[in-house]
Amino acid sequence: MTRFIFITGGVTSSLGKGLTAAALGALLQARGFKVRLRKLDPYLNVDPGTMSPYQHGEVYVTDDGAETDLDLGHYERFTGVPSRRGDNVTAGQIYSQVIARERRGDYLGATVQVIPHVTDAIKQFILSEIQDEDFVVCEIGGTVGDIEGLPFLEAIRQLGNEMGPERTLFVHLTLVPYLSSAGELKTKPTQHSVKELQGVGIKPDILVCRSERPIPLEARRKIALFCNVRPSAVIQALDVDTIYAVPRAYHEEGLDDEVCRHFGLERTTPDLSRWDWVTQRIRHPDGEVTIGVVGKYTTLIDCYKSLAEAMTHGGIANNVRVKVNWLDSEIFEDEGTIQHLEDVHGILVPGGFGERGAEGKIAAARFARERRIPYFGICFGMQMAVIEAARNLAGLPGAGSTEFGPCEDPVVGLLTEWTVGNRIERRNIDSDKGGTMRLGAYPCVLAPGSRARTIYGVPEISERHRHRYEVNINYREVLEAVGLRFSGLSPDGELPEIVELEAHPWFIGVQFHPELKSKPFDPHPLFTSFIEAAVTQSRLM
Ligand code: GLN
Repeated sequence: MTRFIFITGGVTSSLGKGLTAAALGALLQARGFKVRLRKLDPYLNVDPGTMSPYQHGEVYVTDDGAETDLDLGHYERFTGVPSRRGDNVTAGQIYSQVIARERRGDYLGATVQVIPHVTDAIKQFILSEIQDEDFVVCEIGGTVGDIEGLPFLEAIRQLGNEMGPERTLFVHLTLVPYLSSAGELKTKPTQHSVKELQGVGIKPDILVCRSERPIPLEARRKIALFCNVRPSAVIQALDVDTIYAVPRAYHEEGLDDEVCRHFGLERTTPDLSRWDWVTQRIRHPDGEVTIGVVGKYTTLIDCYKSLAEAMTHGGIANNVRVKVNWLDSEIFEDEGTIQHLEDVHGILVPGGFGERGAEGKIAAARFARERRIPYFGICFGMQMAVIEAARNLAGLPGAGSTEFGPCEDPVVGLLTEWTVGNRIERRNIDSDKGGTMRLGAYPCVLAPGSRARTIYGVPEISERHRHRYEVNINYREVLEAVGLRFSGLSPDGELPEIVELEAHPWFIGVQFHPELKSKPFDPHPLFTSFIEAAVTQSRLM
């Protein structure tokens, strides 16, 4: 029997619903249950793929090629369960589906309405593609009280009613702020938020209260009384030093116990030893390395969520702390600024779009190559490294990417045709922008004797993609002649997936996003190896 846990949030956004869902999933797993995590996003975009990273943060890509919310990254990192397209839905998808059905005539005779047509479509999504999971944890995006969230709340209310408390549970996340002028923690915002939730017919079973300071027992009792929950169901959620300490912290506060109690499940002790191991490694590293990330969205690190985590994982694997200097690539376009990179132990140029800052990234790749500093180029970072090698090693000063307009030597060009299984995908300059990139998992064959082959330890890999442009295979010979080896290719040999500089301690560019698959318990081999190279570099400096 599958049980459904719905997570809503109130008072403010950014309370960490995604992490709460991920940590609860991990705790249930640690008790031996099979879990799946899902996210319902009330905005009208069909997916976050067309939003600016500043609006939305990172776009997390699944193996089956969906562009999804970054919380799915937390879910996957915390539970190891690969997310699928069907684990994230937006109001945009729901409404498109309902309108398409209306046009097809599926509702002939009926007036199509939010209730029941939109809410039915939401319920269908929540219940779809479930096999033998014991728990489905469903996070509702946004904050209670948002207009666009109403159909989602109504849908979960109906499910609660239809399936009953033996199969559904409502967790509400709120904030208990500390008012320094009063010298007190305040419970009123929580009371109001619960009132709002009750106004749409949902009575929360568990309240998770985020707070900067410990919430005294008395305040918890007050919250319980005013919000109509058991005192033991008021869970305090204090800030922790690393996100991987969250499962342990929630367990200590009784969150998973309370869930088991609600469903009448035996309250065994979960095995959290691997979480304790990870937090221990993070808290007590043996040394530190500094990585300079030369990107574009460096003021909002949510844009690089998985990347930041993957670097932490690489640090865990090498038992060092990874300090990241987030650097705006545009600064490297001015004379004399590249020296800022002098004291980093590794340079990473992440994924990105558009011309702004591209020359700064090319300059960073050049600096890394010439100074023999470990360089890791991811997607755009690989493309910029190839342009740099073409210009400065292969003598093609007009080398560029057609993403920025026509150029003399298009070493990076628009991908117009590729194969997915036995189907051919075609695109041109006028294709729609939404959901049309090369997305999701693709196989890549590694060249024998290459560094990539050694790092992965296997001849063929599968990694996730999200890009429109591609390194032009026609330049392979010219570039290999100057030492930039094409060490990973698509199985048909047409698409360059990995390049590496042979005469360099560690210089690798990958067309895919390895950060999406890295986990604290299973750090990605490229990140492990890159951080190891940074450790070596730090000893030389
Ligand atoms: N803008 C580049 C492309 O579309 C790189 C994309 C990325 O880094 N994810 O190909």
